[in-house]
Order: sequence, then structure tokens, then C-alpha cells
Amino acid sequence: MPNKVTVIGAGLAGSEAALTLAENGVDVTLIDCKPGKLGPANVNTDFCELVCSNSLKSTDECTAHGLLKAELRMLGSKVLEEAEKSAVPAGSALAVDRNMFARRVTQRLKNCIGDIRCELAGEADDGYTIIATGPLTLPPMDVFISENFGRLHFYDAEAPIVSAESIDMSKAFFAARYGKGDDTDYLNCPMDREEYESFYNALINAERADAHEFEKGEIFEGCMPVEVMAARGKDALRFGPMKPVGLTDPVTGKRAYAVLQLRKENAAGDMYNLVGFQTNLKFGEQKRVFGIIPALKNAEYMRYGVMHRNSYIDAPSSIDRFFRSKRNEKLMIAGQLSGVEGYVESIASGKMAAIHTLRMLEGKEPMPLPETTVMGALSAYISTPNPEFQPMNANYGLLPPLKELPRDKRMRKEAYGRRSLEDMKKYTESYLWK
Ligand SMILES: Cc1cc2nc3c(=O)[nH]c(=O)nc-3n(C[C@H](O)[C@H](O)[C@H](O)COP(=O)(O)OP(=O)(O)OC[C@H]3O[C@@H](n4cnc5c(N)ncnc54)[C@H](O)[C@@H]3O)c2cc1C
Repeated sequence: MPNKVTVIGAGLAGSEAALTLAENGVDVTLIDCKPGKLGPANVNTDFCELVCSNSLKSTDECTAHGLLKAELRMLGSKVLEEAEKSAVPAGSALAVDRNMFARRVTQRLKNCIGDIRCELAGEADDGYTIIATGPLTLPPMDVFISENFGRLHFYDAEAPIVSAESIDMSKAFFAARYGKGDDTDYLNCPMDREEYESFYNALINAERADAHEFEKGEIFEGCMPVEVMAARGKDALRFGPMKPVGLTDPVTGKRAYAVLQLRKENAAGDMYNLVGFQTNLKFGEQKRVFGIIPALKNAEYMRYGVMHRNSYIDAPSSIDRFFRSKRNEKLMIAGQLSGVEGYVESIASGKMAAIHTLRMLEGKEPMPLPETTVMGALSAYISTPNPEFQPMNANYGLLPPLKELPRDKRMRKEAYGRRSLEDMKKYTESYLWK
């Protein structure tokens, strides 16, 4: 049996994958361009660098991110363990001292991997390989990835996604513009003139997230953020993503002054995307400003809008749920490149790629993670056909609905959590690794 794996990229996903494999006795070669070359967002020569926020989000198991962490702990995540040892006080969030965290992971990698190479990689050989060079993958690896996994998408201009149950349905109505198409596809959020004006003023004055130097300029050509469009004039949105024509508000029997359309994000219809509202506003500002739209007053955000450089593959067409290339099962891809979004999600994908590789090294088929777990649901998401595929972070909308839904929100989340951790326990009992 082969017992050799190459991991390319020692970020969050690559470090988790390399540590999991090496600490289970696999002969790992780890390749990263660091410390010889740093990417455009990197400042630290150590591996496993957090390039932006130092927060790995909530630890509360009644949140999707808290639940994901609990699952990762059950699977023995090495990177999460080092994050917890580098924690700084942050209430119910796991925030870390980023330098200590990167140093600890780098040292642990050096302790168990003899073959760590500083190389700007541009290809993989025929053996088992996990590519995890991240959203800012440096050339020439981008060319190799495109050749083997299809065209790379470069920019994320994502609109926020809200949960269906948090939308005030008394302030929204289903209708297709001019009655064309299925009238359950779009949920319309009307505004009168006064509401629109207060929304507009809040939007143009809202605080935006900083763009990195390497992201300035290019991003706005292809996909304009809603706040940039609004700044062009008071009516720009009413002639753009908020145009009210062809839609009659059933409450007033008239056309509204402005309308935001929401589109179903998943087949279950429990998540909605704010159409045309790609945005670079800070997360808190998105909640405040979009909350001025009456139907979204109490909206719960499953994913906030983001605009940043982000390379990722069209995962559903090129990889399976085990993160393996559909053309070559020894070639795997993990981390943000594979279509998961976020630090902890990247760690989780590295863990999944590694445990599936361990099975293949034993000559066995990988075992899918239960779809009732956040990790299993994420791997199902990235491998399910989706013409609008975009990277996704952990959220409850990915999980199959419970048979009995408690009315109380917290109890519902507890029920999702219990089901996930019970199923994950069975998974770990049926298959052992360190
Ligand atoms: C600018 C930016 C900010 C982000 N901020 C956040 C945030 O605040 N919170 C959050 O949850 N998520 C954030 N993300 C999303 C994502 O979670 C992180 O990018 C995360 O680090 C992705 O993990 P990864 O393992 O896929 O890649 P990375 O952690 O980026 O690791 C990739 C590794 O590959 C190496 N590498 C790259 N190219 C090559 C090559 N050709 N040869 C050899 N080595 C190479 C790099 O040196 C690096 O060590 C951000 C993304 C970007 C782009």
C-alpha cells in the first residue's frame, strides 16, 4: 500500500490535512512558498496565517460555527487545538493571538514532518496530493488547477443570504415580474417613498470594509456593490436592482416606490439571497442598513455579503464529496479553493480531505460524513450540481430539516446540534484515526 502524500499549501486547510496524515503515520511532503515568498495578503513567514480577522467565530454550540467546532473537536482537529491554546479573551467567540497560533502550528508541523519544502509549486505528481493553496493561490499553481479542475473563479461579489423564517412575510409578497415565470421564485420586499429615502441615506453613509491594495480597482468593473451604485444618484437603485416595475403590491394594489427582490438560495427554500445586493459594507452595517427594508427588519443573516479576491473552482462539476478530482481520485483539493468559505470551514475541509485520504491509503473507499453534520452538509453542498455555485460558509440552512421542528429558536438549534453530534459520534466509532 502507498503511504506517501504531498500537501501543497500550509494554510488552514493544508496544515490540518498535513498534521492529520503525519500524526497517523503517513509520510508527508509539505510544500509552501513560505518563507521564501509571501502572498499579497501575507505578512508572517510562519504557516497557517490568519490574513484578516483574528476571530474563528462563535464557540456557542447553538450557532452553526460553534457546532462546526464541536464536530471538529470530535474528529480531533489539530489546528483547532492549537487555536484554542492561542486563544485571547473574546466572549463566546474563539479569537486567537495570530502570531502565537501560526508559530504553534508551524512548530507542530516541523515536529512530525521531515520533508517540508519551500517552493512555489506549479504542479502535482502522480501520487496522492492535496492542493490547498488558498483563495490567493500564486502562479503557476493557478494554471495547473485550471487545467485539472476547470476554470478558476477569481472574485467574490456575494450578496447576503437571510433565513426564510426571519423575513417578515406580512411585509413581502411572492410574484414574478410582469407575471412571467414561476411566481414563487421571487419574494418581493416593497418600500414606500419615505422608507426608500431613509434606506438610501443610510446606505450611502454606511461604513465600508477596507479593501486590500491588491483588490482595489479591478473588483468594481464586473460587479458593482449596491452602495457604489447608490452613490451615483438617488434613483440609481430604483432603475437597477430595486426597480418596482411589473410588480403590484397586493396590500396596496399598486406598484411600490422601490422593491428589493429575494431569490431562493436552496431547494428547501429556507434561505433567500438579496438579489443584486452584492456589497462591501461592514457586517454590522449590512444588518443595520438592510434592516431598514421593512420585510428584513429582523432578518437573520446566514451569510453576509463580501467582496474580495477569492480563487475557487466550480466544485460541483469537478470534485466529488470527498474533495477528489472527478478525473483523478488521487488528486484532491481543500480549503477555500474547494468552495468552502471561512477559516474554520477551511480547517474542516482539510480534515475531511485527510481522513478520506487515510481510507484510500488503506485501499478502502472513503466514508461520507453524515449530511446531518455541518461538515457533511458542506461537502454535500460543494458536490451538488449548482449553476450559481459560490463558496459557502457554515449555516443551518445547509442541514436537512428536522422531522419535528421545535418552535423556540434556541431549542431548534439545540436539536440540530444534538442530531449532528450523535451522528458524528457514530461516524467516529465506525472508523478510527488519531
Ligand atoms: C483577503 C482575505 C481575507 C479573508 N478574511 C477572512 C476572515 O476574516 N475570516 C474568515 O473566516 N475567512 C476569511 N477569508 C477566507 C478564508 O477563510 C481564508 O482565506 C483562509 O485562510 C483559507 O484557507 P486555505 O487553507 O484555503 O488557504 P490559506 O490559509 O490562504 O493557505 C494557502 C497557503 O498556500 C500557500 N501558497 C499559495 N500559492 C502557492 C503556490 N503556488 N505554491 C506553494 N504555496 C502556495 C500560501 O503561502 C499559504 O500558506 C479571507 C480571505 C481573503 C482572501
